[in-house]
Amino acid sequence: MTIDFNKTDGLVPVIIQDDKTLEVLMLGYMNQEAYDKTVQENIVTFYSRSKNRLWTKGETSNNFLHVKSVHIDCDNDTILIKASADGPTCHTGSRSCFQTEYNQNFIMQLERVIADRYENPQEGSYINKLRGKGLNKIAQKVGEEGVETVIAALAETETDLINEASDLVFHLLVLLREKGLSLETIAKNLEGRHK
Ligand code: AMP
Ligand code: ZN
Ligand code: ZN
Ligand code: ZN
Repeated sequence: MTIDFNKTDGLVPVIIQDDKTLEVLMLGYMNQEAYDKTVQENIVTFYSRSKNRLWTKGETSNNFLHVKSVHIDCDNDTILIKASADGPTCHTGSRSCFQTEYNQNFIMQLERVIADRYENPQEGSYINKLRGKGLNKIAQKVGEEGVETVIAALAETETDLINEASDLVFHLLVLLREKGLSLETIAKNLEGRHK
């Protein structure tokens, strides 16, 4: 990968995106040295224009950005890094420096919460209780919520439909996780059909 560091005073803008939810977390700048360090350590280091030095994101907060993949734009002067954040990326404590009023990717985040409950079971967790009842019960819940969604769509109020569709999506996510599948697999499959 050849990045053009010469266009703007040796600095190239770098977009940081959450690798799972695809949320844009922040924008920073890298010079050649920051880029090399980032690639070497797999942890994002910027060149800070205000500090006038290399700045490893998380150096004081411990909210490091772990590099998952690096992408260069069409004319080699902008970098996109997909990363996994140890904590809030914005110094205000927000998940993202571009925090929106609602999280457009909450369903993807919910999928991560479900995966996390599977990996680290928690006392009183509904997901863990459901999992304990086994695949048959989880699959049956998806069927029930599907029927309830149909009934709500045909006969009831919009609020009911929103609630039943939410139940359906949630339980479908649990079922997919139970079967070792992810939204990504479904999205890729749908995309494949679309072509
Ligand atoms: P950190 O790199 O998270 O340890 O933060 C160190 C310092 O960098 C903070 O005190 C802020 O001044 C600054 N900083 C941290 N995160 C951001 C950010 N997302 N955007 C701009 N400045 C930041
Ligand atoms: Zn460009
Ligand atoms: Zn910020
Ligand atoms: Zn329901």
